[in-house]
Amino acid sequence: MSNHPIGRSATIIGAGPAGLSCARSLQSAGWDVIIFDKGRGPGGRLSTRRSDIGPFDHGAPFFTAEHPTFCAAVHQWQAEGVVASWGKDPTTNAPRFVGHPSMNAFIKAEALSLGVQYGVHIAPLSNRTETGWVIETKTGEAIGRSDVVVVATPAEQSAALLQLASPPLATVARAVRSAPRWTVMAGFEGPVSLPDDLLTDCGNTIDLAIRDSAKPGRPAGERWVLHGTAPWSEAMLETDMTVIGEMMITAFEERVGPLPPLNHLSAHRWRYALTTTPTGQPFGFDEKMLIGTCGNWRLGAAVEDAWMSGHALAAELIQRPYP
Ligand SMILES: Cc1cc2nc3c(=O)[nH]c(=O)nc-3n(C[C@H](O)[C@H](O)[C@H](O)COP(=O)(O)OP(=O)(O)OC[C@H]3O[C@@H](n4cnc5c(N)ncnc54)[C@H](O)[C@@H]3O)c2cc1C
Repeated sequence: MSNHPIGRSATIIGAGPAGLSCARSLQSAGWDVIIFDKGRGPGGRLSTRRSDIGPFDHGAPFFTAEHPTFCAAVHQWQAEGVVASWGKDPTTNAPRFVGHPSMNAFIKAEALSLGVQYGVHIAPLSNRTETGWVIETKTGEAIGRSDVVVVATPAEQSAALLQLASPPLATVARAVRSAPRWTVMAGFEGPVSLPDDLLTDCGNTIDLAIRDSAKPGRPAGERWVLHGTAPWSEAMLETDMTVIGEMMITAFEERVGPLPPLNHLSAHRWRYALTTTPTGQPFGFDEKMLIGTCGNWRLGAAVEDAWMSGHALAAELIQRPYP
């Protein structure tokens, strides 16, 4: 338990951009912060998958920055060398950014400075005592205690974590919908003959194709990540990933012409990739239970939405009067 007055220690569940942004602001304001993530390593939906032929950014392929607060964080990461710019968004013309030398690099750097504990799967919140929240793992181990809990996970997982402790916050999270995405990681023995490194009009199966190996700081090779369209990913959600890989490569070949021989093919299913019905409120807070919620799903689908949501929740927590 912290030595701070009541309301100045927080457990954060989830070390994606939302949780890390909230943690960073709280820690700067002098709070005791402890962060848990069930993943084996840093990234959340900004993960990087390693393979024999090099890494693949198989979650978010890039992100943009508009709000001055997020722009300031991005500039700091650029100065630290963990983010690099990578062309412009084909639809909006906004500058695109990627983690450097892999998408999860800036999450890794933030997580390191904040001391995230990985591989810890937190159970639904239920145990609040006179001295604060007792944080328990899925296996029933009590691993922390704090005044405030911040749930910074995708909406669907937040609803489950909150259902016993804060039915009102759980109801809001449950109403949010996210579209799934299949992503396919494909390595080729030679260059795919396309002038661009990013293809957007790929038909009904593929939404986006990215030459991942062309991003700054990546090792040599010819690695592509193919993103399924939302309706196709939804329809194929329970299909075997080997079949998904073959179907997406066939669709890619139909679009771009004959492909060089493959030297890697794998797929990943993101059950909750992109929010389709955000709440429109930057965060949620249950004053009675001292539980906050943040995540991209509060404001939209993007990395910037997640960062801004965590930042807004921290600002609220910092300025609140506590008993
Ligand atoms: C395929 C795909 C394409 C995308 N494309 C783009 C794009 O082009 N541009 C863009 O800006 N964004 C894109 N995104 C979205 C972007 O990745 C998200 O907006 C952002 O990562 C969300 O951050 P977050 O912190 O809200 O959640 P996350 O990054 O999902 O972090 C939540 C964390 O909570 C952890 N967690 C969950 N439950 C528990 C538990 N019980 N105990 C402990 N830890 C838990 C998870 O392990 C995870 O690390 C894309 C995402 C995907 C998957």
